Amino acid sequence: MDLDLSHYYKQVMASYKSPSQLARKVTEKWASDNLYCPKCGRSLNQWSTNTPVYDFYCGHSDERIIIVPEHLPNNIENFQLKSQKHQFSNYVLGGAYRPMVASLNAGRHPSLMLLYYHQQKFEVEDVTLIHRLSITLSCIKARKPLSSQARRRGWQGCVILLDQIPAAGRIEVVENGNILEKAAVIKSWNGVTKILQGDLTQRGWIADMMRCIDRLPANFTLSDAYEFETELAKLHPENMHVRPKIRQQLQVLRDRGYIRFIKPGRYQKII
Ligand SMILES: [Zn+2]
Repeated sequence: MDLDLSHYYKQVMASYKSPSQLARKVTEKWASDNLYCPKCGRSLNQWSTNTPVYDFYCGHSDERIIIVPEHLPNNIENFQLKSQKHQFSNYVLGGAYRPMVASLNAGRHPSLMLLYYHQQKFEVEDVTLIHRLSITLSCIKARKPLSSQARRRGWQGCVILLDQIPAAGRIEVVENGNILEKAAVIKSWNGVTKILQGDLTQRGWIADMMRCIDRLPANFTLSDAYEFETELAKLHPENMHVRPKIRQQLQVLRDRGYIRFIKPGRYQKII
């Protein structure tokens, strides 16, 4: 992996007048040449068709498969690249709200590649992957529908709240200009895939519980976990029995290797 973007600029500079289009093309070409599938480590394939949601994919096989976005095989991993010339804040723009929720429900939402580049140095500074399974309804916030004066009146977008993603779901590939070890990235990715299995409701609970545990010390107790009861009840108003649900989620997280039980009511983080 080479973090230098300058030769990509030289390649495409003549073809793009708009600075934002140029930057998009440069970072897209860089990602295509330098990033890899975090599940299997192979090079990524770029979608040839222009889809607004998917930029890259991997079929985890050396055979090149021909697929169209409408008929995705189950084992395909999809990625959406978001690149910008400043650090990411605590949210990124999603697309239209309802299609976003539908794609989360159907398990079709891509993982995100958040790429921050330094415009003066022509270098990639940070690349963070947001694992698709860690994006749940707690991370999606609907925006106000566009006003009646707007060209697309009534259209409703959404934002993805990055600070609602559990820490394990944010996997650094490049951090402050340092390239992280590929084997470690793949290990983290596959660890998260195992932990966040299930439909959107199940994943929602697991991810919310993980985010609560993120705020606890390495060793914690059941009463520490109960401190989040009100917060979790707000996120899941349909559930009337939040405490039993917390205990159940701790068992799920133990079975999937995220925490261990030390003795009754005492837990320890593994990941
Ligand atoms: Zn792969």
